[in-house]
Amino acid sequence: MAQQNDQFKKIIAHCKEYGFIYQSSEVYDGLSAVYDYGPLGSLLKNNIKEYWWKSMVQMNNNIVGIDAAIFMHPKTWKASGHVDAFNDPLVDNKTSNKRYRADVLVEDYMDKIEAKINKEVDKAQKRFGDAFNEQEFRLTNQRVLANQAKMDDIGGRLATAMTDGDMEGLKQLILDLEIACPESGSKEWTDVRQFNLMFSTQLGNIAGEEGKLYLRPETAQGIFVNFLNVQKTTRQKVPFGIAQIGKAFRNEIVARQFIFRMREFEQMEMQFFVKPGTELEWYEKWKETRLNWHKALGTPESKLRFHDHENLAHYANAAVDIQFDFPFGFKELEGIHSRTDFDLKAHQELSGRKIQYFDPEENANYVPYVVETSIGCDRMFLATLSNCLIEETLTSADGKESKRDVLKLHPAIAPIKCAILPLKKNEPGIVEKAKGLFKELSFSFQCQYDDTGSIGKLYRRQDAVGTPFCVTVDFDTLEDDTVTLRDRDTLEQIRVPMSEVESIIREKVNMKNLFV
Ligand code: ATP
Repeated sequence: MAQQNDQFKKIIAHCKEYGFIYQSSEVYDGLSAVYDYGPLGSLLKNNIKEYWWKSMVQMNNNIVGIDAAIFMHPKTWKASGHVDAFNDPLVDNKTSNKRYRADVLVEDYMDKIEAKINKEVDKAQKRFGDAFNEQEFRLTNQRVLANQAKMDDIGGRLATAMTDGDMEGLKQLILDLEIACPESGSKEWTDVRQFNLMFSTQLGNIAGEEGKLYLRPETAQGIFVNFLNVQKTTRQKVPFGIAQIGKAFRNEIVARQFIFRMREFEQMEMQFFVKPGTELEWYEKWKETRLNWHKALGTPESKLRFHDHENLAHYANAAVDIQFDFPFGFKELEGIHSRTDFDLKAHQELSGRKIQYFDPEENANYVPYVVETSIGCDRMFLATLSNCLIEETLTSADGKESKRDVLKLHPAIAPIKCAILPLKKNEPGIVEKAKGLFKELSFSFQCQYDDTGSIGKLYRRQDAVGTPFCVTVDFDTLEDDTVTLRDRDTLEQIRVPMSEVESIIREKVNMKNLFV
């Protein structure tokens, strides 16, 4: 656990030191759970978005993209259920006055039991070595079975209370488990209350409730209300999808895990409209497709897992999270939901407009069912950094050891693809060649010209920000127009003609490599 905390702290410090992420309004001591992306952060975030957009819109003839407004007619949120049911259960500790999400307190308690089970399994693994059969051990060990039964019982009670909106049941669960406030250790809790997560604001020219607007808490509704517009103007036939990347806002009760839980964040969502009755088939297909999207970036399978929802949201008939092993444990990175026809039907009813699709094959009208994939861009950013930031020990030819921080990003999403480093910053011939190369390569991909230190130091800096290639221009370049090309991961340095640098790097950083 301590090691995990250290890793998390290291990522946060790294983000600030190299200009990936800053606390918002830092000069005023910051605004809680709001963050700004710096020069390198915005490049990396854009690349993540591009990878997602390409995989959805560019690579699928039956998925189109839109960019809907953040503000929507207030009735949208009535129809979607967000006004009445977009709540988190909050509870205050009477001693510390700290506010918590009641369900998260219980989940954290369950995480501790799970950690005990895993410890037991690890111990047995060490004891039995190769002969160890984990599945059998989990099914027969008395301590593991007892803890598993405890978890199942708590999970069941939590799911029932959440589904039924039973706040008293939730409080009773906290009391029964004797959960203490992590700050004060006190077990004195207030009643659990529902708290709506939507931010509201007011239209300039209309007073009172009538003029109340919400900052959208999800991008999906912009897609639903545009379903007919898009279907008619693009002549798409079911099954087809609409994709969108955009900001969403949630007044999160507890937001203290850096960019994991923000009050303003960005979502990448795709709603796939299908014929009723086929939705679970598509749901399975999208589960697989989305897992493969993550794996293509080099994320090991052991750091990803599916987690089925125990308490389904009011609109879903199946739902799963893709969880990632963040430094603070496995948590939701992406949600895949079979949303039935709930949203389109609700908008149809409240607007009084017919929102249906005429299926020429069936010769019938129907409200399509929807399978949604929804991923937070910021959580994806955090997962990427957690997966790729590595401390390596290097051994030089004379046996000396040194450490380097290296961000092993897939070259296709690295913020800077190539750094051009002149061996001497005051040598006119070298500078001219290096600047010429920078200008030429910049037409093709993001480069950086850096002459602010020794080559060794500059290499370390580029390693730390994930630059897959460095090119050094030196005295030999003046003689034969060759440069040194250094690979971030293998540390291999090869001499190549300047005229070939662009094509070598372009091939390696091409996003196509993520799709084939
Ligand atoms: P959680 O249970 O963690 O609150 P959620 O189930 O409410 O998340 P969804 O409504 O399914 O999340 O949103 C889809 C995706 O949007 C999530 O998988 C996550 O990646 C992202 N997301 C949701 N809330 C936040 C937030 N406050 N900050 C950053 N990303 C978020």
